[in-house]
Formats: sequence, C-alpha cells, structure tokens
Amino acid sequence: MDNPVEVLDKIVTLTNGRIGPSHLADEQEKGPMRITDVKVAEAPIGSRFSNAVIDFSRMTVSVIAVETDVVVAGERVVGYGFNSNGRYAQTGILTERVLPRLRDAASEVLVDPETGILDPVTARAVMMTNEKPGGHGDRAVAVGIVDMALWDAVAKATGRPLYQALHDRFNLVDKPAESVWVYAAGGYYYPDGTLGSLRDEIRSYLDLGYRDVKIKIGGASLASDLERIEGVLAILPDGCRLAVDANGRFDLPTALSYASALSAYDLLWYEEPCDPLDYLSHAVLAEEYPGRLATGENLFAVQEVRNLARHAGLRPHQDILQMDPSLSYGAAEYAEMLGCLCARGWQAARCCPHGGHLYNLAVAAAFGLGGCESYPRVFEPFGGFVDEQPIEDGRVRLANDLPGIGIEGKAALHDLVRRLFR
Ligand SMILES: [Mg+2]
Repeated sequence: MDNPVEVLDKIVTLTNGRIGPSHLADEQEKGPMRITDVKVAEAPIGSRFSNAVIDFSRMTVSVIAVETDVVVAGERVVGYGFNSNGRYAQTGILTERVLPRLRDAASEVLVDPETGILDPVTARAVMMTNEKPGGHGDRAVAVGIVDMALWDAVAKATGRPLYQALHDRFNLVDKPAESVWVYAAGGYYYPDGTLGSLRDEIRSYLDLGYRDVKIKIGGASLASDLERIEGVLAILPDGCRLAVDANGRFDLPTALSYASALSAYDLLWYEEPCDPLDYLSHAVLAEEYPGRLATGENLFAVQEVRNLARHAGLRPHQDILQMDPSLSYGAAEYAEMLGCLCARGWQAARCCPHGGHLYNLAVAAAFGLGGCESYPRVFEPFGGFVDEQPIEDGRVRLANDLPGIGIEGKAALHDLVRRLFR
C-alpha cells in the first residue's frame, strides 16, 4: 500500500440526533425501520501513481454510517457506504442536499409498506427531490454512497448478504452468481516505474490468483506504451489476457493511431480511448478497431447510457460497458441502465463495473454481470473483497455467511469505519 490510511480530521455528524425520534429504546420499537442518525466522514485513498489524466496523490473518499433503530443479535444495525476511487469525497452535497431530504422525510415514506424495512429505491427518489435533470456527476456519486449504506443496512436487518438482498429486490436473473470473474487493474504510471517493475507488478497479480490484467496507456508516448504492452504480454501465461486503459485521454486522431497499433495484439479490450461523452468518436473507432472497446465508468445516469447505446456505435455482441453503480446513483439506477441496454440488444454479461470493491461485486453477482474490476493492493482498505475469499483462477466467490456488503469480513475496512464513527 502506498499510503497507510490515516483518518482525516473531518467528520461531520449530520443530524445530531435529528433523524428519527430522540428517545430510542435499546431494542427496536414496533413500527417501520427508522434511520436514527447519519454520520459523514472523509478518508484519503491517495497514491503516488497516475493514469493518463490524473494523479491520485490527493484522492479522497466519503464514508458514511447510517444508524438505524433495528437491533439484530444484540447489535444495532448500521449500514456503511463509500464511493469508488477516482471521484473525490462528496461531503458538501451529502450534508447540504441529499441527507437533509432523508432527514426531513417521514419514516413511513422511506420503507417498504409490506415489510416495514427501509427501501433504498424509494429513498433514492426522496434524495433526488428538487434536483433538475442532467448534470449528474458528483451528485450521482453522493446519492450512490447513501444507496450503498442503505442496502448494507437493509441486508443486515434481514440477515442476508447484499447480493441476495439485491437479487430478491430486482429479480433480474434466476439466481445470483456464486462467484464473479475479476481482473487485476493496475499498471499505473509511477514516478520511478520501469518495465521491470511493471512486470513484477503483473507477476504479483498472477501469484494472487488473477488470470487477466489491465495496464494504463496514454500517459507516455505510443512507442513507450507499446513497449509496456509487449513487456507484459511476454510474461502472461497461455489463456491470460491483457486489457489497456487510456482513461479518456485521446482525441480521435490519437485514439485511431493507438487503435491501429493495438490491432497487432490480441488484447482483452481497449478502454476509454476518448472522452466518455464523445459518442461520435466512439462510433468512428468502433468502425475502425476490430477488437473490443470498453467504456462507461464515467457515465453516471440512465440517460447517459441510453445516449451511449444510441449514438456510440458500440457492438452489443463484443464491447464492454463499465458503469459503476456506486458512482451512479446506486443499484436501482444501475438496474434501469441494464433495462435500457437489454432493450437495445445488450446482455448483462457484457457489463463489468469499474470500482473494485465489495458493493460492485455484490451487484455483479446479483444482476448476472460479466465481471467486476479489482485493484489488488491499491485503494485499500476500500478496494478489494472479503479477506477470507481469495482469488481463484480469476474468480472470487461471494461470501454467503456475512449479512450486508461484507465490510465486517474485511478487517482493515471494518477497523477504519469503527475508528471513524466510534
Ligand atoms: Mg478505467
């Protein structure tokens, strides 16, 4: 890990007890599940590497704790949420807009009327009150953080792992997957990086059980990037594949130059060649590049995905879509994205979310997605999966004995949230 996690001295208790009744008993009272408080904090996940567009030295993440009046096995149910790496902490939007709307909503409005359990789908609508269409960006991240925490709380309150709770709520596939394909996303640009250190890094991922890996491109010259690609391909065993990621850096001529050069290799995919909203450039590339294209991690709403499907010329039978549920309003929005895509000939198996953490893994299993990104050893402790579930032959099994997201099964993350919110 590049930076040991230090908790920032910036914890906001949003409600000071103003959500729900202030006279809660130790045990759950009869009536709907209630949110009793929401705490908001920031933590750094800075690293000393860069991709083609940003360096991660000042990257932060929001972490929230949604406290409820439900008690299970003597412990009050608390749902935790955080955002994927790559987008900064969202304290302002959370504390000034999104969470006050939850605070001001009657408890009865926020629950499933049949079960009395919190309903994150309804909560999303409440959080979006008085928000105009468009302009998703950071607002989608803030709502996604709360969505994660609410789903964690709901799953814990009902004694189910998150993937089961999501499956039961949305019913998109017959049954959730028991394991999910993951690939090791690394190969960043380090100030002192060499081809040797890149190869050592890739070897370490193979040793961890990954089969497929990804490295960055676009942060160096084409010649240098091709050297990196060939250096990695030379050490990959048969059957292991390499993807490359330009992080939206290129204009169309540069993207085409890279596409021409990359066509010489049997790559897993060519990711985010151009700006994520430049659909026409994607359409031109899709005509020219015979291999798989991947994009979508910087689309944050159904309408943006609909536009991509309409205008970007991507090929439903081969290309990959990487929208990140935790950055884009959460599970319900993601389910709507899948509905939009399926109506246009895509299958959920062609979706593989950015993010590399427990929540997106659960969504992938629950919704029948093709896989999930993973960042071995970086973005810890938010990145990665349950400690006791190693990567085996490029797949990770879902922990079926941990209610909720599974934070309690990831010691470093569990320790962090306990220190943040004690
Ligand atoms: Mg990417």
